[in-house]
Amino acid sequence: MASADKKCKEVIPVLLEMRMLKAAEEMFKRGARVPVVSALMPLKREKLMRLHVEVTGQNPITGPLPSDHTWYSSTTYPMRMIQSSVIVDSYRRLRESSKSALEAEIIIAAYDLHIEHCQAIKAEPLLTFVRCWHLIQQVRINSLATTKCVHCEGNYVVNVGRLNQKYECPLCVRSSSLKPEAYMKTKDIALAA
Ligand SMILES: [Zn+2]
Repeated sequence: MASADKKCKEVIPVLLEMRMLKAAEEMFKRGARVPVVSALMPLKREKLMRLHVEVTGQNPITGPLPSDHTWYSSTTYPMRMIQSSVIVDSYRRLRESSKSALEAEIIIAAYDLHIEHCQAIKAEPLLTFVRCWHLIQQVRINSLATTKCVHCEGNYVVNVGRLNQKYECPLCVRSSSLKPEAYMKTKDIALAA
């Protein structure tokens, strides 16, 4: 069994390799880094380096990849968190409806939906392709989870330690602070002071 696995890793069927290379090309067009593509598909590193140059006309950049999972869930940056939540939602739907797709193909599709969504609402996309990949990895390894807002019922990205029964998303917290009773409370406090 172990030797069969090893053999599979060494010899990728030609058609599958072509499909993987096409996905790698699409990822490089969207700003993917070589280690990201390598993490998703068992393609030779040298081949990916050459492909990167052919697709982008530039040598692959080096340096650390994103590592902080709280970047996506911090409520200090609600737009980041909301865009991350939309990406995770798209990823899950795509994963569910395209069982035979490669993980790389699903991430490309989720990223494209993210860009389309931002264009539709005239918002600046805050997550690059590399961030998109990293976010999905963090959800897959359970560093991040999603939880439902008690008011709008949307699913939002949160740190696993922050899961609770009565979650309020940043959008609902903001709008609830404009409700008359909340306004009265602030006014009363101001009068009492
Ligand atoms: Zn909400």
